[in-house]
Amino acid sequence: MERVLIANRGEIAVRIIRACKRLGIETVAIYSDVDKESYHVRLADEAVCIGPKELHKSYLNIPAVLSAARATDCDAIHPGFGFLSENPQFVRACDKAGIIFIGPEADVMEKMGDKAFARELFASHGVPVVPGSDGLVENIEAAAVIADEIGYPLLVKASAGGGGRGMRIAENADELNGAFMAARSEAKAAFGDDRVYMEKLIMNPRHIEVQVLADNHGNVLHLGTRDCTMQRRNQKMLEEAPAYFISPETAEKMAKAAVSAARIAGYKNAGTVEFVVDSDENFYFIEMNTRIQVEHPVTEMITGIDLVKAQLIIADGQELVMHQDDILFWGYAIECRINAEDPHRGFLPSPGKITKLNLPGGAGVRVDGSIYSGYTVLPYYDSMLLKLVIHAETREWAVAGMKQALQELEIEGISHNGDFHEFILDHPDFLEGKCHTRWIEQKGLPEYLE
Ligand code: ADP
Ligand code: ADP
Ligand code: MG
Repeated sequence: MERVLIANRGEIAVRIIRACKRLGIETVAIYSDVDKESYHVRLADEAVCIGPKELHKSYLNIPAVLSAARATDCDAIHPGFGFLSENPQFVRACDKAGIIFIGPEADVMEKMGDKAFARELFASHGVPVVPGSDGLVENIEAAAVIADEIGYPLLVKASAGGGGRGMRIAENADELNGAFMAARSEAKAAFGDDRVYMEKLIMNPRHIEVQVLADNHGNVLHLGTRDCTMQRRNQKMLEEAPAYFISPETAEKMAKAAVSAARIAGYKNAGTVEFVVDSDENFYFIEMNTRIQVEHPVTEMITGIDLVKAQLIIADGQELVMHQDDILFWGYAIECRINAEDPHRGFLPSPGKITKLNLPGGAGVRVDGSIYSGYTVLPYYDSMLLKLVIHAETREWAVAGMKQALQELEIEGISHNGDFHEFILDHPDFLEGKCHTRWIEQKGLPEYLE
């Protein structure tokens, strides 16, 4: 692998370009015509404009991405996260063009992307899944029958879902019809696919996931757990590694379940197996993400392993250099997603020109971003500006380090959510592990806004 095209923008594109450069691999960025001033464009060895700002005409435009790769003689494409990263048609198009896709095979991606199928597959191999429907739920009559079996409250979930969309709670039988219809129509609009399945709503759970790495030589490793309980509307905001509020025995069981899920799926490259965990530490598989994840840096901090470098090495056909016993976990890491949005106005996106930027530093501080002073945050794309990551000896010290870093962080000209992160980091519920995945909506945010 000598030349890689990065089919993404923003922070993750920058992250991937850096990893390629360290391996001596040349990089080609793509950009839409409004993204000419973006940092990933400046950082890459070469950059190709692939179309106008609309996603389907540029970053989601498969023929345009592939012709950019061909025109610049790339032998591989890294999709990052979001965009085309979980699109099996894109993987097939890469295969056909003779370009390496840095990620799993198309068929495996397609199977894992069908969340109802993945649930059934893993359940049949003994991986614990949330009690729910056997596969898809075709209509409201079937939904009512299954609801009686699994009980309320429950979730109607889009089989093609992602990003917390296409998911609705029904608290009781009266709400089932509305939840079913709403999940369907949101799924249709967001994913062009209205198939749904049902799961029992696990009450006040934590979201805990396991990072896996699998090469083409039969090695499947896990890199431990991450706790991503701090979510707003099912979207992660702050993540930690390792999961602190479960016993080492539960963490070990979850890691084993994740490795066997990856083996069952025939998975290659970096992936994440997501679980919800109840207050008795029962854990249930919810989905497998077949890509690098936003929160991968917390795992990198506690293991010292560069996950994007591992992705490149695996895609190049090389064998992983480390074995499970070589992976050592040390210390504690926290990531805060700093987004251009205003917590006082319903997290409304806040695009605009950054007039001043001061980034924190010091021991154990990592900033993964793509912004600079004078850069204009565009309204057309995701509002994530940067990820602030802290590594320290203990959770307590990681929290202290993060608070210090947030105080030093200055971004002027636009609103961001740094202050809300500080509020979370100070909250006794957060410190004592009393949060669950809906804590921000139900308790944190109302208190913050008081
Ligand atoms: P993750 O599981 O990686 O933390 P989320 O669950 O927050 O990601 O996001 C769900 C979906 O949105 C994923 O498909 C992810 O790739 C995409 N996504 C999340 N954040 C961003 C971002 N800042 N830029 C582009 N895509 C994103
Ligand atoms: P997505 O593909 O959108 O990431 P997931 O299935 O991973 O969807 O779920 C996203 C979030 O929704 C989880 O992190 C969790 O907070 C919540 N969630 C999903 N399924 C359940 C469930 N059965 N019970 C309770 N919460 C759930
Ligand atoms: Mg998920």
